[in-house]
Amino acid sequence: MLEVKGLNVAYGAIEAVKDVSFTVHEGQIVCLVGTNGAGKSTTLRTVSGLLRPRGGEIVFQGRPIHDLPAQAVLAAGVAHCPEGRKLFAGMTVEENLLLGAHLRRDRGVERDMARAYDLFPVLGERRTQRAGLFSGGEQQMLAIARAMMARPRLLMFDEPTMGLSPIMIQRILDTITMLRDQGTTVLMVEQNALAALTLADHGYVIDLGRTTLSGPGRELLADPRVRAAYLG
Ligand code: ATP
Repeated sequence: MLEVKGLNVAYGAIEAVKDVSFTVHEGQIVCLVGTNGAGKSTTLRTVSGLLRPRGGEIVFQGRPIHDLPAQAVLAAGVAHCPEGRKLFAGMTVEENLLLGAHLRRDRGVERDMARAYDLFPVLGERRTQRAGLFSGGEQQMLAIARAMMARPRLLMFDEPTMGLSPIMIQRILDTITMLRDQGTTVLMVEQNALAALTLADHGYVIDLGRTTLSGPGRELLADPRVRAAYLG
């Protein structure tokens, strides 16, 4: 579904992503793991069309997308749930969800909003409250629900468990697994390698801007090199 080959991305003179390659097959959860500053967020932001690569290719469903603006990437079916959630804090739950659907012209928006409230009842109960009043976990639920409102084929998560309590981390990871089981393909980046590789169908390690290791999530988790570098 998504093929990233030899990706190279720089911020001026800083080469944040040097040579990243990975594949996401339809129906999978794929995780990119790596330490702080390895280039994971930069990779996702480039797939989203927020940054232009200096080299390499990004092909989504057979079509190159690395030259497309972010709106067109979203319209093609790739949604991004960014690091730090990036909600509109002064807007209500309902308004945030509608913004997630802003490119849609179909009649299913109301129905999908009802689905979001079924999935996360707390959002339904507080639909007229401003997002900025919510806890970190509730904000993450809203960020996921907002991204789902675009009806993406591929949903990308940047550090979805960051700053959350263990119970909320499990809840978010269960939700991501459920979205995969219901047919949304997932690409996720995580510093929490243990959590990420436990649920990933396939994982890639990114180190200093390069993909260095890959394999099924549980195999990577058992790899002594991954254990030594990321799991203490
Ligand atoms: P983290 O989990 O900390 O976000 P990461 O693996 O996602 O880490 P990136 O955020 O992609 O890593 O950062 C990769 C490199 O690019 C780092 O050296 C970082 O300092 C640098 N970088 C990131 N954003 C910018 C920016 N806007 N301008 C300049 N350098 C940047």
